[in-house]
Amino acid sequence: QRRLEFRIVPFGETQRLLIARDITRIYQASEMRKDFIANASHELRSPLTVIAGYLESFEDDTEECPASWRPLIGQMRNQNGRMQRLIEDLLQLSSLESSDISSHQESIRVAEVLFSIYKEAETISGTQDHIFYLESDPELCLMGNQREIYSAFSNLIFNAVQYTAAGGVIRIRWYEDEQGAHMSVSDTGEGVPEEHIDRLTERFYRVDKGRSRERGGTGLGLAIVKHILVRHNAKLHIESVFGEGSTFRCDFPKTAVI
Ligand code: ADP
Repeated sequence: QRRLEFRIVPFGETQRLLIARDITRIYQASEMRKDFIANASHELRSPLTVIAGYLESFEDDTEECPASWRPLIGQMRNQNGRMQRLIEDLLQLSSLESSDISSHQESIRVAEVLFSIYKEAETISGTQDHIFYLESDPELCLMGNQREIYSAFSNLIFNAVQYTAAGGVIRIRWYEDEQGAHMSVSDTGEGVPEEHIDRLTERFYRVDKGRSRERGGTGLGLAIVKHILVRHNAKLHIESVFGEGSTFRCDFPKTAVI
């Protein structure tokens, strides 16, 4: 039942220093934290579904529900929806944390995945008339977990829609070079001030909390993306110029490409 951590570090010219540590307690505390978040999220799911159902029937009941209540019910539904998205994101994060690599690996036709995300992004953009460009290599496939990859890429692409003003340009690319395969999303949106870039993948880190909430964000999207990429031996690279736009790029090693 014990967990030991061993580290070997260079020591002097020819020697090595071996440090062994009993990390049983730290490990147990971290497992307890993970279990607690997963259980609490799971327990909150059902009451929120019930509340959402009642609010929906209130809204639909034009005879019983006074007109002056409608905006209030609309707000309650919005907030309830936000809580449901938070719970779903927390559950996804805790399931990603529960193992280092995903059990289900398959060959993913990334071009098809990106096409269906792009269609969804167009719906989210709605009347904002964002201009989308999608360039993807149809032959280039990835070894990994399709559901996870869908989730990571859609988080990045939907963020581009959320943080780019109407009429802005969103360019999605899936391509290969000497280093490996890359999926990049560039936008001409609001961009991120440099001092925030390194912290964006932390849980609940947002440049502007109020605006992210207004848009229905959970602040967990990029943390989920980072976790998924680590599980695929990939890295997230972020470039952004405040006021001009951003590029979020996922770099996959050659070994993940098929
Ligand atoms: P949120 O739910 O707030 O969008 P994310 O984890 O997806 O949470 O993103 C964290 C923060 O990173 C956002 O609140 C926003 O400040 C910033 N961000 C993410 N994507 C973009 C983007 N394409 N352009 C500008 N800022 C972005």
